[in-house]
Amino acid sequence: MKIFCIGRNYVEHAKELNNPVPGKPLVFMKPATALVKEGKPFYYPNFTKDLHYEAEIVLKINRNGKHIEPQFAAKYYDEISIGIDFTARDVQDKCKEKGHPWEIAKAFDDSAPIGEFIALENLNNSAAIEFHLLKNGEKVQIGTTADLIFDFNYLISYLSKIFTLSTGDLIYTGTPAGVGPVKVGDVLEGFIEGEKLLHCEVK
Ligand code: ZN
Repeated sequence: MKIFCIGRNYVEHAKELNNPVPGKPLVFMKPATALVKEGKPFYYPNFTKDLHYEAEIVLKINRNGKHIEPQFAAKYYDEISIGIDFTARDVQDKCKEKGHPWEIAKAFDDSAPIGEFIALENLNNSAAIEFHLLKNGEKVQIGTTADLIFDFNYLISYLSKIFTLSTGDLIYTGTPAGVGPVKVGDVLEGFIEGEKLLHCEVK
């Protein structure tokens, strides 16, 4: 399976890191070894001193497809969750400076904790899904998918014209403003529409 991630998909987050708002989706990938499921702990990696959380809505692809037009894209996912795109910000800043790829900053082992999946049909308004992240009980990120620069259907269509999408592939759809550092002992909890789906302890 493949894990796609979208960078800078919320205007306020692009601004907080002084990045331009992209004209096309900014895409990178993580390997399957990045996933952390079922509330298993996350171990702070030894190659960074500035690890950041990024809470994101995650789509799960439910059938194979390529060259999908946006008007048919909604048939390719029916479950979502909330995940963390852990980022070694100090390592990423060096990659950006040199124009190097981001994998060593974003695709390392356990860099993608993922919560429980819920059926989209149980949500009131799938065009404006509210989600938030608590760090040690304090609300640090709040987002709504109404603010996405590139919405779910656009992303699926765009990606499918470059990569074949397969059942079980995941798409981390980008993080809203409010990203920040974690340290050992922190607890992250992710919610969609008030329902807790993700629990992640940093060890
Ligand atoms: Zn991200």
